[in-house]
Amino acid sequence: MATVLLKPGREKSLLRRHPWIFSGAVQQLDEEPVSGGTVELLSSTREFLARASYSPSSQIRARVWTFEDEPVDKEFFRKRIRSAIDARQRLKIEHHSNASRLIYAESDGIPGLIVDRYGNVLVLQSLTAGSEFWKETLADLLLEETGLSTIYERSDADVRELEGLEPKVGTLRGSLSSLRPGSGQAFVFPITEHSLEFKINLQSGHKTGSYLDQRKNRLRVRELAQDKDVLDCFCYTGGFTVNALAGGAKSVLSIDSSADALALCKENIALNSLDETRHTALEGDVFQILRKFRDENRSFDMIILDPPKFAPTAAFAEKAARGYKDINLLGFKLLKPGGFLCTYSCSGGISADLFQKIIAGAALDAGVDAQIVHQLHASADHPVLLSFPEGAYLKGLVLRVA
Ligand code: SAH
Repeated sequence: MATVLLKPGREKSLLRRHPWIFSGAVQQLDEEPVSGGTVELLSSTREFLARASYSPSSQIRARVWTFEDEPVDKEFFRKRIRSAIDARQRLKIEHHSNASRLIYAESDGIPGLIVDRYGNVLVLQSLTAGSEFWKETLADLLLEETGLSTIYERSDADVRELEGLEPKVGTLRGSLSSLRPGSGQAFVFPITEHSLEFKINLQSGHKTGSYLDQRKNRLRVRELAQDKDVLDCFCYTGGFTVNALAGGAKSVLSIDSSADALALCKENIALNSLDETRHTALEGDVFQILRKFRDENRSFDMIILDPPKFAPTAAFAEKAARGYKDINLLGFKLLKPGGFLCTYSCSGGISADLFQKIIAGAALDAGVDAQIVHQLHASADHPVLLSFPEGAYLKGLVLRVA
């Protein structure tokens, strides 16, 4: 095994059990490790620190598998996978949904690996050289530990590029067509979430097919939507829209720039036998439409703002902050007195603290007083390690304006 000697002082983050080593922390390598291969991390005084996967082309040069001096092999990963699955079983998510996150990368001690379960299909995302190196072993273990037979791979996230990896999409184990014989629609099938059904497109849906992280936040919207005129911005395939209608909203106007997403949003409303006459879909740019609505003095009882990631890393934080301020300021202006703003950020580069400050600034500039009703984060199947706060990318606030 190759050893990676760190510069003096650069062992500190590892001693706090943070799992990343940046390229600038590396003093010397005794040999060039293969991409994703396991290396031993040593302090500048040659003390053992951790075993890690090596990413030759990434700024994050190594990610820790273990802080113990133990073999990293199939049995090692079996323990990690078993522990992650066991933790999810204790959460009893299956009482609410047949779709959940089984493995959440660093948070479950397997950096680079995301595994979501949709019914009897596992969707795997391998994001780093390390998870790619072990992918076949991890796939075998996932089937052995879940008793399932199908894994679909959605390793098409942009971050793979930083690791020098090409996108990969396709069936990794088993077959999807066996699940829906003859339908020709093997990639689209419904999942259940809090008694509502949603069609998920495994092949082209965002992330692994859908946004499982917002599960309980969608329920919060359902609870508040009764008799309200709701505006759902960045609605995608209707996660919040369907919940608002199910919660008794008087009307829901859903905006997205993607015609395909809006089409699936409408299908999801029909799938749940909700009143389509209470729904309007609008294709376009949220930033422009909110301005237009402001100029037309339109107003709503509830506004949902769930935009795409504006800041993937802290380097984009400033530009992202302007984007969040802009839409939230407009959101506040379009709310009736006593209305609710349900606002979210999935930007890793924006902390919950900063997000709340941005929203406070937006309210101030909009001239409204608002109180926080719910402080939200990702659902419990996306746990966050205390030593790896980067895992807490999703934050949300439900605010009631005076
Ligand atoms: N709220 C959704 C997830 C939103 S994902 C859910 O709970 O499932 C972000 C969505 O924003 C995508 O569907 C994307 O098409 C859309 N989008 C991105 N930029 C946009 C813009 N400027 N105007 C409108 N929609 C946009």
